[in-house]
Amino acid sequence: MSFFKFCPSCASTHFTFPDNRRFLCEDCEFTYYHNIAAAVALVFTFEDKVLFTVRNVDPDKGKWDLPGGFIDPNETAEEAACREIREELGLNLQVSDLKYVTTSPNNYLYKNVPYKTMDIFYECQLTSDIIKVEAEDEIQELIWVKRSEIDLDKIGFVSIRKVIREKYLK
Ligand SMILES: [Zn+2]
Repeated sequence: MSFFKFCPSCASTHFTFPDNRRFLCEDCEFTYYHNIAAAVALVFTFEDKVLFTVRNVDPDKGKWDLPGGFIDPNETAEEAACREIREELGLNLQVSDLKYVTTSPNNYLYKNVPYKTMDIFYECQLTSDIIKVEAEDEIQELIWVKRSEIDLDKIGFVSIRKVIREKYLK
């Protein structure tokens, strides 16, 4: 099973693409590594609550998510975290505001292309729970949830469900 029907270089249908990892054309030797993408996720905490976003786009539209996103080329993970938070929530974080938590692999199906990601989690403690959505196209709403009341079934991505379950559930 492949999301490519033809070789992008010579249009041959003779190719291998096991596990969607390395595409190799048997006719022209075109090679493409479908490497994992790196992404960041931010766990904002205030008192005993964790901030979730409600996704406004697929994959997993309507499900709970964390603020964050893909790391751009030539960007550090911390820079990506600060940029995404500025874009999504209008907050200006410093790298020193971020506490590394862990990493977790994720599946990200976008327009029928199955991406594999490595999500890098940071925690950021806030001194106020007043926070608003800047990127309304991406985020339906923000919800603060008590750690004892987090419903894992409402979380879309496996990486986020796993980290919240292991590190933040009470
Ligand atoms: Zn080819």
